[in-house]
Amino acid sequence: MSQVQYKILFKRPMCIGALACSAIDPQIWEETPDGKVSIIGGQKVYDENGEIKEEFIILDELADARMDGAMSCPVLAIEIYKLIDGEVTEKLYPKE
Ligand code: SF4
Repeated sequence: MSQVQYKILFKRPMCIGALACSAIDPQIWEETPDGKVSIIGGQKVYDENGEIKEEFIILDELADARMDGAMSCPVLAIEIYKLIDGEVTEKLYPKE
């Protein structure tokens, strides 16, 4: 049977620290000392300068709060993907 999962991808350099996501979905988003946010328990991807380029977390379920948090971001820094057996099959948000 296929395993369906969801990936929350945060493009951290785009974040302007509006904190809408953490207000709506504090289970996933925590404020950081630099005024931006971080995914709680998320994996970090670094650029060549050692700065965080992306953060992501893979979840087995997509709660409404995850989608609401992504949709609250004014700069579209949060993307949500559907995975089947570990492979991205669909971009759920934002739709292009
Ligand atoms: S809503 Fe967007 S811009 Fe605001 S803190 Fe969250 S990710 Fe950053």
